[in-house]
Amino acid sequence: AKVDGKNRWACFDPERNAREIARITLSASMPAALERDEFYVDYQPIVRFSDGTLIGAEALVRWAHPEFGRLGPDRFIGLAEETGLIVSLGRWVLTTACRQAAEWARLGGIAPVVSVNLAARQVEEPGVVDDIANVLRDTGLPPTSLQLELTESAIMGTTGEPLGALHKLVDLGVRIAIDDFGTGYSNLAYLRHLPVHALKIAGSFVEGLRADEPDSVDSQIVHALVSLAHTLRLDVVAEGVETRDQADRLTALGCDSAQGWLYAKPGPPEEITRWLR
Ligand code: C2E
Ligand code: CA
Ligand code: CA
Repeated sequence: AKVDGKNRWACFDPERNAREIARITLSASMPAALERDEFYVDYQPIVRFSDGTLIGAEALVRWAHPEFGRLGPDRFIGLAEETGLIVSLGRWVLTTACRQAAEWARLGGIAPVVSVNLAARQVEEPGVVDDIANVLRDTGLPPTSLQLELTESAIMGTTGEPLGALHKLVDLGVRIAIDDFGTGYSNLAYLRHLPVHALKIAGSFVEGLRADEPDSVDSQIVHALVSLAHTLRLDVVAEGVETRDQADRLTALGCDSAQGWLYAKPGPPEEITRWLR
C-alpha cells in the first residue's frame, strides 16, 4: 500500500474496500428487490398515556434479503436516498401502509393513525401532493388517518415549492409530525411557519430519564420540549420508551403518548389488528 499521511485515499485498506463493495452491491440490487417484493412493512403501536389506548402505528420498512436475511432500514435507507430509489420505495411504503390502515379503519372503533416516514427527497419530488392524494383516494383511507413524519433536517431543506407541498398536504387533512425532535441543528423558527401537528421526542432523550433523578439534564430537556410543543398546541409522542420508569417520568412531564418496546416492538400488521379487536 502507498502510505502517505496526508493523502486520504493512498492507504489501501482491504476491509474498508470490501465494505464499500458490499454497499455498492446492496445499493445496485435494490430496484430489482422492490420489483420482487422483498421489502415489507412492520408496524409499531403508539399509545396514549392517559388511558392506554392505541392511537396510532408507525410504518417501518424492512428488507427480506434472499442472501443476507432480514435487513433493518438503517442498512439501506441511506443508500436509497443516495441513488434516488427512496422515491419509489417510499411510495411503495406509503401505499402499503395506507392500504393497511384503511383495513384497520373498517374494523370500526377508533381508527389508528398510520405514521409514515417521508425522506427529504420525497418531499422535493414535484408530483408529491398528487401522488399522496392518489394513494389516499385509491386506498380509501381518510386523510386524517395519515401522519407523515419528517426530520428537522428534511424540513429545514424545504423552502419554496416543498414547503408549499407540505401546506397542500395539510389542507388535504394529512397530519405532519417532526421526527427525532430536538436532535437537529435547527433554529426552531420553522415551527412558526409550518403546519405541524405533532412532535416526536427522540429516544436518545428518553433513554436518560430516571424516576430517582427528576432534575437530570435529559429530564429538563424533555420538559422544555413538551412545554414548547404544548405552547404551540402540538401533540408530543415520546419514542424509544423501554421502561415503566421512563413512562412514569414522561407522564409527569406532561407527555401525551408513547412508542417503544415497553408497549410493543415493531411487528407484522396482524399484531395491531389483534390489538384493535
Ligand atoms: P425512526 O423513524 O426514529 O424510527 C424509530 C426506530 O426506533 C425504529 O428503528 C424502531 O424499531 C426503534 N425503536 C422503537 N422502539 C424502541 C425502543 O423502545 N428502544 C429502542 N432502542 N429502539 C426502539 P428501525 O425500524 O430500525 O428504523 C430506523 C430508522 O429508519 C427510522 O427511525 C427511520 O428514520 C428510518 N425508516 C424506517 N422506515 C422508513 C421508511 O419507510 N422511509 C424512510 N424514509 N425512512 C424509514
Ligand atoms: Ca419515524
Ligand atoms: Ca424517530
